[in-house]
Amino acid sequence: MRGFHIESHERAVTHAWAFPRIVRLFRMRFDSRVRIDSLQTEIETTDGRRVAVKLVVNPRARRVSVRIDPTRREAIATAPTKRHLKHAAQFAAERAGWIAHELSRLPQGVLLAPGAMTPLRGVTHKLVHEHGRAIPRIEVGDPPLLIAPAPDIALFESRLLRYFKDQAKADLTERVALHARTLGVKPARVQVKELRSRWGSCSVDGVLSFSWRLILAPPYVLDYLAAHEVSHLKEMNHSRRFWVCVARCMPEFERGREFLHEHGCALHAIGLAR
Ligand SMILES: [Zn+2]
Repeated sequence: MRGFHIESHERAVTHAWAFPRIVRLFRMRFDSRVRIDSLQTEIETTDGRRVAVKLVVNPRARRVSVRIDPTRREAIATAPTKRHLKHAAQFAAERAGWIAHELSRLPQGVLLAPGAMTPLRGVTHKLVHEHGRAIPRIEVGDPPLLIAPAPDIALFESRLLRYFKDQAKADLTERVALHARTLGVKPARVQVKELRSRWGSCSVDGVLSFSWRLILAPPYVLDYLAAHEVSHLKEMNHSRRFWVCVARCMPEFERGREFLHEHGCALHAIGLAR
């Protein structure tokens, strides 16, 4: 299923693989060090640390590139064909220092456990476990409490995740309906799930998918994503016409976009810590 999604906040570097001088440089400096082991390789930084890099073939890629997946906390090197995988590994090897630096500055993971502090609609809440089966509730206070009943502490995380997904779906369904009316379009369905490094996507058959983590961000961020994906029902690209649609739905959409650029990494670290 091919769709469009917003640019994630991942930092990436790309390079035209055919650029001969760089390729020669790889051969001289890195051939002996790079070991391609099916789809995983290891590279070494100048100070001797070893960094795992996942190798991926993507026929749509026009060049080799390396990027950081903040949710999985790994580096991914992409090549347009299997034949170019070695170039991708070499390209990553040359950037071992950059990869190690980017991985080290990823925010600490926040486990969804009792006592943890987690944002909900942009407001920090303290997570509290209570024995029982009722639906989670919020108690005002400083900080406000998000109380998630679960018969067993082992079920606490899944209860909370269910709650975040339900809340995200309710908010997104409402915002999507509003923006769809503005643009005169009809989405087939709204779904909320674990979307690794993306925030949302729109499939060719009109299904809008969103990351549950949007419920953690201030409401204008979720609203921006709703406007963004609904606009793809009009324009399946990121052309100027597309951004005109987004602005029609939400004149101040830039705010939401900037928030994700700035804090996206921190949001991705919530509910991970593995
Ligand atoms: Zn998009």
